Amino acid sequence: MTTVGCIGGGQLGRMLALAGVPLGLSFRFLDPSPDACAGDVGELVVAPYDDPDGLDRLADGAAVVTYEFENVPVPAAERIGALPGARSLEDGQDRLREKKLFRSLGIPTARFGSLAETGLPALVKTRRLGYDGRGQRRVDAAEPLRDDELAEELVDFERELSIVGVRGSDGRMRFWPAGENAHRDGILRVTSAPAVDAPQGEAEAICAAVMEELGHVGVLAVELFEVNGRLLANELAPRVHNTAHWTIDGSQTSQFENHLRAILRLPLGATGALAPCVMVNLIGTVPPLGDLLGLLGARVHFYGKEPRPGRKLGHVTLLDPDESAVEGLVALANGA
Ligand code: AMP
Repeated sequence: MTTVGCIGGGQLGRMLALAGVPLGLSFRFLDPSPDACAGDVGELVVAPYDDPDGLDRLADGAAVVTYEFENVPVPAAERIGALPGARSLEDGQDRLREKKLFRSLGIPTARFGSLAETGLPALVKTRRLGYDGRGQRRVDAAEPLRDDELAEELVDFERELSIVGVRGSDGRMRFWPAGENAHRDGILRVTSAPAVDAPQGEAEAICAAVMEELGHVGVLAVELFEVNGRLLANELAPRVHNTAHWTIDGSQTSQFENHLRAILRLPLGATGALAPCVMVNLIGTVPPLGDLLGLLGARVHFYGKEPRPGRKLGHVTLLDPDESAVEGLVALANGA
């Protein structure tokens, strides 16, 4: 049996396995936590991400090793030849490198650098290890920045979009329809896809340029701001992405399956949408399963994680929903 190794055993790893098991693949995960939720659907090696012995056990007999988050230490990924390659990881885990990459490719971004370069008000972000809005603060008056911080112009965007694509080792690429994303407290709450009237071609060109430049193999996401009909690139993730979870139920091929196809040198699947989709994250608490299944057509995905404030515990996707179904789901997700 073909085994896929994955650094990280969170929900993204779990959903990779849920996509790969029907293709006859088996999975092994490396995670420091013995409770890592991917352990429900594959073998779990419990060790720190940079533990040489743990990494070797993860890679032993595996056809390929990948990762499900971008803060994997680069030497660890290189030791076992993980895909996507080191360049994707290096640029994906440092916001300054990411922004410079966009700039070098002629992709517009918000102004970034020092507060003198961005002007005020600005958002100050840590260059590394920030996620879901953590490590971010708004700054309204000049103050010194730490070396590991980066200022960004505060953008008054119309909406947030994301483009998720996949690139095979032969350089072929496919893209899912862009999603429109709503965040609260820096955490993704809702994605609607395909985003209505999105500049799909422009978004694909951005994602394509980034994947080409990195020599990326696998799925890659770019978060975008739409401002006066223009796209600004905010962030890239060299991995499967929360804003494309709708593809599990709502696309011909999910992002998870296509990621596996890419890293295993298999033909990529079609990425069209089957219907307009709305995906709602379940954060902090999970409504009773019966309540969610009471919404006609709801596709429920629980991650098997212990509830904790701000933690992503699951998501629900609705296909071709009417407004009242979406409102009902959002109310349930908010604990109503
Ligand atoms: P990030 O961690 O960069 O994805 O930021 C999390 C969220 O904060 C984004 O999805 C936006 O809603 C908001 N945000 C990030 N950067 C900016 C910016 N430069 N201007 C305005 N809002 C931002």
